[in-house]
Amino acid sequence: MRPPQETWSTQHLVEFLAGLSSVGHAGEAAQHAVERALEMLDAEAGAVVVASEVVASIGFPPDSVASAELVALADGGPGELVLPGLGPAYLLVAPLEDAPTGRMLVARIAREPFTGADADLLRGMARVLALTLRTQHVVDEERRLRAWSETQVVENERLVRRLQERQGLLERLSRIERLISSRAERQEIFDAIVNGLVELTGDEMVGLRLLEEGDGMLRRIAASIGVSRDLLAVAVDTGGGVGARAVAENRLVIEENYQSAATGTIAAFATHGLQAAMAAPVHQKGEVKGSLMISTCRAGRRYSDEDREILLAFAEHASLALTDAKTVDDAVHQAFHDSLTGLPNRLLFLDRLEQALARGARSGLTTAVLFLDLDGFKRVNDSLGHAAGDELLVAVARRLHSCIRPGDTAARFGGDEFAMLLEGTKSPADAEEVAQRIVAALRTPFALRSRRVFVHASIGIAVSSSGDEDLLRNADLAMYQAKSRGKGHYRRFRQEMHTAVVARLELEVDLQRALERGELHLQYQPIVELRTGTIVGLEALARWRHPRRGLVPPSEFIPLAEETRLILPLGQWVLRESCRQVAGWNERFGEMSLSVNVSGAQLQQPELLADVADALQAASLDARRLVLEITETVLMQDTEATVGRLERLKKLGLRLAVDDFGTGYSSLQYLRRFPIDILKIAKSFVDGLGGAEAAESVLPRAIVDLGESFQLRVVAEGIEEAIQVERLLELGCGFGQGFHFGRPMDAADVEQVLGGGGLLQRPAA
Ligand code: C2E
Ligand code: CA
Ligand code: CA
Repeated sequence: MRPPQETWSTQHLVEFLAGLSSVGHAGEAAQHAVERALEMLDAEAGAVVVASEVVASIGFPPDSVASAELVALADGGPGELVLPGLGPAYLLVAPLEDAPTGRMLVARIAREPFTGADADLLRGMARVLALTLRTQHVVDEERRLRAWSETQVVENERLVRRLQERQGLLERLSRIERLISSRAERQEIFDAIVNGLVELTGDEMVGLRLLEEGDGMLRRIAASIGVSRDLLAVAVDTGGGVGARAVAENRLVIEENYQSAATGTIAAFATHGLQAAMAAPVHQKGEVKGSLMISTCRAGRRYSDEDREILLAFAEHASLALTDAKTVDDAVHQAFHDSLTGLPNRLLFLDRLEQALARGARSGLTTAVLFLDLDGFKRVNDSLGHAAGDELLVAVARRLHSCIRPGDTAARFGGDEFAMLLEGTKSPADAEEVAQRIVAALRTPFALRSRRVFVHASIGIAVSSSGDEDLLRNADLAMYQAKSRGKGHYRRFRQEMHTAVVARLELEVDLQRALERGELHLQYQPIVELRTGTIVGLEALARWRHPRRGLVPPSEFIPLAEETRLILPLGQWVLRESCRQVAGWNERFGEMSLSVNVSGAQLQQPELLADVADALQAASLDARRLVLEITETVLMQDTEATVGRLERLKKLGLRLAVDDFGTGYSSLQYLRRFPIDILKIAKSFVDGLGGAEAAESVLPRAIVDLGESFQLRVVAEGIEEAIQVERLLELGCGFGQGFHFGRPMDAADVEQVLGGGGLLQRPAA
């Protein structure tokens, strides 16, 4: 019975679909669909036609309705007609979507025609059927695939073979990696690479070639197998082989047709029987450095994907080896070179010196060592900063390098010390000539931070012909001698210099005993008010009367004491002794200040504060009477810590003076930062004041003005003439010191002077 049309809904279609999907394959589904359609549309016959083929058919008598007729019916569309063997009938047709030629049709024999709802229903069923057929197709496809995969067993065997090949590749590569990481000889690594390639690719010629430094040609044959010299010559000459192209284009290059190419570079290879070749670039730290090439004379060679993969893998490993070697080279370079200037360091210098001496012993030629120390470098470093100091060292290194021959060595030993090794010099005069060149080269000022900076070099020269002398130590000694002559000098080593060194050593030992033996004493030089000549203070100056040498000047033993740290007990003694004496004089002759020189080494000592306090206390001297003199260069060093120490000292109540002011590269900045009370104008500025040159007074004037604006007392040092006093008064300088007023005196003489019987007039009051 035909159900009422309004009850037809998608739900029925879903049921229809469910029914269809339960059936096995496409043909069955169509058959089932027709059955259901006849039932639902109250029809007697139906069919499904796809691509001119009857897929399913029910109710059409097979002997009277041929397939071709059914196809024609389906194509003809709906209508009224007479079916052979069935009589008059109504026909309904719906397309199968997705299959443009597919149709589903039903026929109702001679009763009432199909309604629109019937047509809708059939269309719906046709759509569902199409859907089913499509799904069915996928399932069928899967089945087909399953069947196909069984044939894959054969294919799998090929796969296993490939895996084995791969295993071979991986084994070889990991061996190369082990060689690289164990830092094997480079040659061993390269050989392993070319051997591996021959084994894995079967090509009989393999070459790893590297670019020649400079000309950019692949001249360096790092490793090769089977490549004839002739062929290599062709490759280098033409520069157009796959190897060169791999470098130029930085990619894998393949050439499989050497024989058919008639012209150009390829033809040149062809005459050597080459058939095919492939090359890959190799890199060092990412930069193309050469190429790895395989090639064959076997005809018909074609490079497969695997071949390419193998070559690329080996090229990758060659790159790894090159990069690693470069890293090692760099590290070695670092160990033997100064990182700032790039010059060889002491280690490399000593090594080269040893070799040069050995060669010299054979050739009879002399070897010379120049030892060089910069004068004034520390000053630049302290005043302009370390970065500027570094820049200066680099610039100096460059100039030094330009003064020597290519075979010679200029090295930096650290700090501002350099050494030069001159090999095969014919006479000591050769070495002196180089020293002259260096002195001259450094005479031109350096441009640093928009300033012109001057540095000089003190150079010691030692020349050898016998080969077993301690050249470096001798040059060092000669350098010290050169330095003692002033800036920018060179000296050649002489045996007597050794004697001088020994003498210095003796002096060192003697100085140690001098304190215990009471060989030191103090002299005092008056500091006066320039306007009145009144003595306002005394500067304590240490003296050493050596039992054999007589009086040793402080310029000799103070630096020695600083180097040997003897300055600490010495300075402590000076403080105690001078405080004691001046406290006594102050009681007898009226209040005066005491100036005591404090060296840099003392200032760095935390004990200085306690030493000063003790000395003041032991002598019952008012701290306000004490002035500590510190040289400008000392103040410039280690400024942060220095400021702290000076501030703690000042808390005791004493005053601070900058000694030798104007000789360093001091900046106004530091005057502001340090708790300073007094500036002492260095003697060198005062010296010029007597003459006619007005320019000479520019600096003293500037210092006086500076003192005024910072409210500092200014004391001029080394005044020897009355005219200088006049000039200083004109400039507004209040105080002075010098032979003009009084030389440093022994305590007894000071008492005489202060007692009124001496050189200086005490004020009437
Ligand atoms: P300084 O502190 O600049 O001392 C002044 C130097 O100039 C003294 O030399 C003094 O004798 C000399 N002098 C003074 N007036 C004149 C003059 O009119 N003409 C000339 N030509 N020279 C004059 P001295 O005593 O030889 O001392 C040299 C340096 O040794 C001192 O220079 C000071 O830096 C250091 N010194 C001396 N005694 C001590 C000490 O007890 N401790 C420390 N740390 N250093 C000391
Ligand atoms: Ca002084
Ligand atoms: Ca001074």
